[in-house]
Amino acid sequence: QSKQGGGNRATHFTAQMETLAVAALALDRDLDQAIERRELVLEFQPQGVPGGREVAGWEALVRWNHPKLGRLMPDRFIPLAEERGWIHRIGRHVIDSTLAQIATWDRAGTRIPRIAVNLSPSELRAGLADEIDALVYSHGLTPDRLALEITETAIVGDGAEVAYALTRLSQKGYSIEVDDFGAGYSSLGQLRHLPLETLKIDKSLIDDVHHSKIDTALVGAVIDMARALGMRTVAEGVELPEQERVLARLGCDSYQGYLLGKPMPAARVPDWLAQRSAAGPVQAG
Ligand code: C2E
Ligand code: MG
Ligand code: MG
Ligand code: MG
Repeated sequence: QSKQGGGNRATHFTAQMETLAVAALALDRDLDQAIERRELVLEFQPQGVPGGREVAGWEALVRWNHPKLGRLMPDRFIPLAEERGWIHRIGRHVIDSTLAQIATWDRAGTRIPRIAVNLSPSELRAGLADEIDALVYSHGLTPDRLALEITETAIVGDGAEVAYALTRLSQKGYSIEVDDFGAGYSSLGQLRHLPLETLKIDKSLIDDVHHSKIDTALVGAVIDMARALGMRTVAEGVELPEQERVLARLGCDSYQGYLLGKPMPAARVPDWLAQRSAAGPVQAG
């Protein structure tokens, strides 16, 4: 390569960097206004019982309908929101919208007992339980209708304030769910002193559970230990009937994934529920 070529590549590289930086800046400015413009919307993903027909629960997942970039998934903007200190506002908005949706479904006769929302680590502050309580009661609801998902790394990482926030939430009647368990480096032993109702087993442990003996044994051990600690288990990212069958055999309480249903807009939930119950009881065998 000539010097000339190298220079062109360097110029090209710099231009790309500039484009990226400008894009990040624009996203940044837009996100600041996204809530007022009602661009943040929720989708809801169901959970089922392995080998059964029951609906075991729901998770709310945020999406950003960006005016220019189209629909952005949370991995594109949640880290940015955390960095800029906007995650608190977004988190309150997600919880408020979820509660509004539950109340709307209650009035329409669509029975959704409980929905889980995701919390970022920095939201786990001392005042969180009171803030959430105020939102819940403002919608005429009670704490049993809301669950809070927190990643295992967030729970293990920060000592006293996290433990305090979790304890207050649990005392008020909110279910705490450990998200993405198995993706980090914590052990169930580190979690055993905290008031945790549910353990969500990360998709990376579920991917090969149906054909890897080691993964089957590992997931089985996690389920058994969770039960010994009084926790309910949810398998994440279940895409195949073979995976569901193994999870039923291992005694996993529930599962979530594309096999049962992808995250869907609120408007589709009542139809999905009606179809699910019309399909009748699962066939034996
Ligand atoms: P998560 O809480 O672990 O959510 C599960 C993610 O896996 C979702 O991605 C869901 O769409 C996806 N998923 C579910 N079943 C399957 C499957 O069978 N196969 C595959 N390949 N994927 C599946 P999504 O919606 O893109 O969300 C990504 C992450 O963004 C979430 O992971 C959560 O950590 C975060 N997030 C979502 N909503 C919020 C929110 O309102 N607040 C905060 N702080 N974080 C959120
Ligand atoms: Mg989650
Ligand atoms: Mg997860
Ligand atoms: Mg995740």
